[in-house]
Amino acid sequence: MKVGFVSIVGSPNTGKSTLLNNILNKKLSIVSNVPGTTRKNILGIYHDEETEITYTDTPGIGKTKYKINKLLNKAAYNGAKDTDLIYFVVDGNKNFRNQDEKILNRIKENNIPIFLILNKIDKLKKDEIYNKIKYYSEKYKFDEIIPVSALKNDNTDTLLKVTKEYLEEGTPFFENDQITTQSEKSMIEDRILEKALQLTKEEVPHTITVFIEQIKKDKKIVTIHAQIVVDRESVKKIIIGKNGQMIKEIGIKARKDIEELLNKKVNLQLFVKTKEGWRDNDSNLKELGIIE
Ligand code: GDP
Ligand code: MG
Repeated sequence: MKVGFVSIVGSPNTGKSTLLNNILNKKLSIVSNVPGTTRKNILGIYHDEETEITYTDTPGIGKTKYKINKLLNKAAYNGAKDTDLIYFVVDGNKNFRNQDEKILNRIKENNIPIFLILNKIDKLKKDEIYNKIKYYSEKYKFDEIIPVSALKNDNTDTLLKVTKEYLEEGTPFFENDQITTQSEKSMIEDRILEKALQLTKEEVPHTITVFIEQIKKDKKIVTIHAQIVVDRESVKKIIIGKNGQMIKEIGIKARKDIEELLNKKVNLQLFVKTKEGWRDNDSNLKELGIIE
């Protein structure tokens, strides 16, 4: 059996989480066009008859104004060190940027094979794809350059096929039905966070976070009480929205997702709480699972 570990790294918003969900054929990592949505290293385990690939979806490596971002970057780089293979994901619609360059410089130090994943090719014409591939092949001696559309599931089968060629024979680490090491609680929190970020768009800084207060499982229904924690009154207002419209919508959308995840009816109660300055508070970062 082929067994291996693959790290998915890249700038925020390049489609890393979308790619992982697509490979696993299951929604595991949260997706949003708000940078910084993925906050922890998320393990996703791919299985087929002859393979076990353990993927790490890393937080996007980006700007470092806040302490939380610095920690996220550290988590992302550390995650990339102990793997057999790195997927370096870039957005095919964007030029190679300074931050991409920085990431490349860091990951190439490790001497681990690097695949350049040219994502979002659904938005590119054939000759544009060709030009991008040429550009990246001159930029660095990537082990492979693979154009995909994570969103449209285009060419991801090729990516898997080539990945297997780089893995060695070994004994699997997980049961063949385990697809993550994440707890149910953490996955529920992530789904609520995802909806909050997606629906409020850029208005809300990514300093909000979600905590489950209570999960009560009855035969027919699961009751969940969750807090959306914000660091400012102004952000609280946005989350709640006019006449509570926004929080209602977040609740409806998140509930649907959680019902799918748990395969049960869900009663979701959301509360918004202001907690000032949590961003730079170590104990809060611990709660988030970013530091130990
Ligand atoms: P991450 O920050 O790298 O994990 O990126 P996400 O997976 O959260 O995706 C960021 C945004 O890009 C989301 O709005 C996705 O729907 C979008 N996206 C991801 N992959 C593709 C793709 O192949 N094509 C297009 N058009 N959009 C994509
Ligand atoms: Mg992500």
